[in-house]
Amino acid sequence: MDNVKTTPPGITTTVANQAQSHMGDRPTSTTNTPNMRPDEKQLTLQWFGNKDVRVVEAPVPAITEPTDVICKVTGTTVCGSDLHLYRKEILQLQAGDILGHEWMGVVDEVGSGIKNVKKGDRVVASFQIACGTCKFCKEGLSSMCDTTNSSSLQEKLYGKPFAGLFGYSHFAGGFAGGQAEWVRCPFGDVNLLKIPDSVPDEKALFLSDIIPTSYHAVQCAEVKEGKSVAIWGAGPIGLLAAKWCQLAGASRVIVIDHIKERLDLAKKTSGCDIINFDKDQDVVAAIYKLEPDGVDCGIDAAAFRYTKGWLHGIQHAVGLETDSSEIPNEALRAVRKFGTISLVADYAALTNQFLIGALMEKGITLRGTGQAPVQKYWKNLLSKIESGEFDPTIILSHRFKIDEFRELYDAFDKKEMGIIKTFVQTKFSAPPHPGTPALSSLREGDVKPSAVA
Ligand SMILES: [Zn+2]
Ligand SMILES: [Zn+2]
Repeated sequence: MDNVKTTPPGITTTVANQAQSHMGDRPTSTTNTPNMRPDEKQLTLQWFGNKDVRVVEAPVPAITEPTDVICKVTGTTVCGSDLHLYRKEILQLQAGDILGHEWMGVVDEVGSGIKNVKKGDRVVASFQIACGTCKFCKEGLSSMCDTTNSSSLQEKLYGKPFAGLFGYSHFAGGFAGGQAEWVRCPFGDVNLLKIPDSVPDEKALFLSDIIPTSYHAVQCAEVKEGKSVAIWGAGPIGLLAAKWCQLAGASRVIVIDHIKERLDLAKKTSGCDIINFDKDQDVVAAIYKLEPDGVDCGIDAAAFRYTKGWLHGIQHAVGLETDSSEIPNEALRAVRKFGTISLVADYAALTNQFLIGALMEKGITLRGTGQAPVQKYWKNLLSKIESGEFDPTIILSHRFKIDEFRELYDAFDKKEMGIIKTFVQTKFSAPPHPGTPALSSLREGDVKPSAVA
């Protein structure tokens, strides 16, 4: 999940929560306040304020509806989009929200209406909570499920809201997330995928979000054999998208970022050309040097926050816009005439100085990816992992314990210590799979290991 962020100018979390309470919740097909098991406790990562997250004890959820499944978490992680929560950039956060939308586990208990999974099954959850029966779910567009998000504020802002999400504030339905030892999964038959023994947790976990999201971004950009592609942003989504482009037979994949290790990784794992915008400040000129007609496809996998120029920096700071148009404008200029651009990065509300002329005059298709419909892709993508065609662990840099989530958010936010993507273990996790990172500790300053188990 890589494009949920919204703080329209002048709207604070408090005001947003007041507005929601004034409007009342949208009706939903499942509750976001489940029953709890008496006397059982678990570790959870909870949000308390700007850059204030804490690992605290909480009750363990219980089966509340017949379609519920309760899972013990065996793997979780922190996502780039969690940093918007960390920095209080998402509306409708409430103190005590349990975060985390990327998780997997073992089924511990199932409701009476569950048919597809049973106690003991290894499963991965999609980051979105789909009902499986509404119009959008029936069309395979699980991320746009119409019945699971209670946010009337989002409905007001966008016209219609996307699906409820695990651990992503009340703007996304107010469901407890997977940065925890236990999770209640509503509509477990729809939102859990069984994992075969041949696929280790370190690979399966990423089917929850970044594998389908990166794949979806590449589909939306219409990348095909022989086409050239430019990808802005070499975070986990950009890096995995580059791999999908290479597997699709793209003639050239150019990755743009300014963090050296990430650019090196793009080169090493997917044979990309790289542009470091600290050195090559005119990114568009650098792209035309490599592809004189411009690239066929563009993917914006960067983030709104990383404005480069002073103009957008000031407008963002004083609340004249929420989102910068700098990268879409670079893409509009660098993509060939009648080319295609997909936006998978964080855009929320309003932008200024958008180069609408290039969009129209060059005949460019500019497509917002939306939240990726995970269920549409995940069986196919699991088979590509099983066969060895696709290995998501190319971006897995570290493994930590759930106890150190607070330190991990801080280090990840600062983009320190070469952390790209992490695997966070709980007391229910198996030992590291051979070839994946060994356990590190942030508390002991032991954070360099690309050492593998
Ligand atoms: Zn994510
Ligand atoms: Zn639905």
